Amino acid sequence: MTRNLPDPATDVPPDEEPTAVCAHCERPFRSVHARDLHVGEVHEAEATETERERYERVIETERDDLWLFHARTVVALGVVYSTTVILYMVVLGQFG
Ligand SMILES: [Zn+2]
Repeated sequence: MTRNLPDPATDVPPDEEPTAVCAHCERPFRSVHARDLHVGEVHEAEATETERERYERVIETERDDLWLFHARTVVALGVVYSTTVILYMVVLGQFG
């Protein structure tokens, strides 16, 4: 049994004009980013040189976004940790 569920991130509502359309299967997309990702993943064999380059750039953007997310998480954890240590030391200094 094959279920063909729409991808929520790339699905375009009927009343919305698609920003980008796949050149291979005419599927509409909300963003060029999503279209480029789709072409590289679904039409890898028939993709043109330009489309391959676009796909690689999109993959790189995703990686950068992920890196930024990780970096923010690490910084946030560091701030929480040092605040806890400072507060702990202040409390110890007062009552110790
Ligand atoms: Zn397509």
